Amino acid sequence: MNVIFLDVDGVINLCLERPQPDGSGEYRWSGLKRDRMANLNRIVNATGAVVVISSSWKYSKTLEQINRMFREVGFIGQVIDFTPNLSGKRWRVRGYEILAWLVEHWDTVDGFCLIDDGPWTSGIKALEDRLVRLVSEDGLLDSYVERCVAALRLDWEPDRYDH
Ligand SMILES: [Mg+2]
Repeated sequence: MNVIFLDVDGVINLCLERPQPDGSGEYRWSGLKRDRMANLNRIVNATGAVVVISSSWKYSKTLEQINRMFREVGFIGQVIDFTPNLSGKRWRVRGYEILAWLVEHWDTVDGFCLIDDGPWTSGIKALEDRLVRLVSEDGLLDSYVERCVAALRLDWEPDRYDH
């Protein structure tokens, strides 16, 4: 199984406005964009990957709701799971939540990539090698598709890494 660990805000849902450095203003979002979803479809088509949600959307929506919302903007794939919540809503631990999911499912995963616009790091080479970091205002542009596909095609062989 190939797995895309997907963030949503800043990936399919684009950031239109964010709070100012002085704290004024607030986030404004575009809603799910059909053209960015089409690019996710291209990755799914090329690799047969399924989606595991690593976004904060996991705190407020069910898998059914997310699948329905994604299909409404043209998603052709399957959202199969969420990463576990290790630490409340602290998004900086997102990498460790992805790792926890991989530990649980390691024997069924052939390849994976992480798509996210957030500035978090995990410090884990296997994750960093497969992290495609986007710009919140642009999301999943055409230009990232090949990088995601290439990341998914990396063999996941922990022995290759220095310990
Ligand atoms: Mg995000």
